[in-house]
Amino acid sequence: MKIHEYQAKTLFRQYNVPVPEGKAAFSVEEAGQVASGLGGFPVVVKAQIHAGGRGKGGGVKLAHSMEEVKSLADEILGMTLVTHQTGPEGRLVQKLLIEAGQKIEKELYLSLLVDRATATVVIMASRDGGMDIEEVAEKTPERIIKVHVNPLMGLSGYQIRQVGFGLKLPSAAMKKFSGLLSNLYKFFVANDCSLVEINPLILTADDDVLALDAKVDFDSNALFRHKDLLELRDLDEENPLEVEASKYNLNYINLDGNVGNIVNGAGLAMATMDIIKNAGATPANFMDVGGGASSEQVENAFRIILADEKVKAVLINIFGGILRCDIFAQGVVDAAKKTGINIPVVVRMEGTNVDTGKKILADAGLNLTSAVDLSDAAQKIAEAVK
Ligand code: ADP
Ligand code: MG
Repeated sequence: MKIHEYQAKTLFRQYNVPVPEGKAAFSVEEAGQVASGLGGFPVVVKAQIHAGGRGKGGGVKLAHSMEEVKSLADEILGMTLVTHQTGPEGRLVQKLLIEAGQKIEKELYLSLLVDRATATVVIMASRDGGMDIEEVAEKTPERIIKVHVNPLMGLSGYQIRQVGFGLKLPSAAMKKFSGLLSNLYKFFVANDCSLVEINPLILTADDDVLALDAKVDFDSNALFRHKDLLELRDLDEENPLEVEASKYNLNYINLDGNVGNIVNGAGLAMATMDIIKNAGATPANFMDVGGGASSEQVENAFRIILADEKVKAVLINIFGGILRCDIFAQGVVDAAKKTGINIPVVVRMEGTNVDTGKKILADAGLNLTSAVDLSDAAQKIAEAVK
């Protein structure tokens, strides 16, 4: 689960990770109030969306007067911000962070993430921080320092120094940096983060270090033990169909093709996407109704997929094990009766109670095409969207 920069900075403050003074604003008027509380200019007006690259997209701007704060807030609030992370459709800006402008001496990069391959927390840092870090990673990867921290051992002093020396920090800034990194590590572990990225981490003219940007991603599987963090979720930043699907415990991910898939089991869903791609069609989604879905869940899955305007045909691929074919078929029939089917639907079903399942579908008098096996299903669905 991602959160906004302003929320991440509030959490950083609680862990004594230094950040600039600032506050969220939801209107032009509020932006002015926050700015006047900062006691001076320049003030930075920052769009709050769950994507990076805002600076380059025109979502981070410097104001030198109250009039400028207001006109920039007015310009950025309500704009559709397009960055390399939002895709061409962009993201509507509904929130701002108004913060004190800093005198930047040097922009650095610092991040912590879970490295599954080594089962460690990896700290990455670079002297080449700022808005072009992707290019640094691609062209000069040797300029990125990596330190692996065994979570059972915790972060040691020598590892902090390794990062600090790697960043070539002036000695006067070392102590501040050391506190920052050690507190950031505590924050990371205590909240089950999967990623914390500070780009840029800045060094000021008076050897201060602080987090100028803050990107935080929590491990969703651990959120059950962080009820307070759940309140930070912003549904405006998520795909509405994915939000709807999560209410019914459906594993659903929206993709950009035009074939809707309803499958039981993640492995089968992956295989189904491959096989239809191979037949020349592209998946509009990944929908795993789960091994033990009820007919009600199947009905919701079907309704959610049909609500997606990109979907031009639906492929149902079910292997009846724990989820029996008759239960599944009943879910499809109930959903179809409620929503109506006005696009081609191909069904491939195999497994427990398959004959009863097929009979339920046939007797319902719905406009479904049945397939004998997976390759037949893939052919038929590719044909349907041609
Ligand atoms: P993004 O990574 O989405 O582009 P950042 O928060 O990193 O957004 O801001 C982009 C750039 O704007 C930073 O690299 C920095 O140069 C500048 N900037 C951001 N916040 C401040 C601030 N409080 N004071 C001065 N400059 C800032
Ligand atoms: Mg940034």
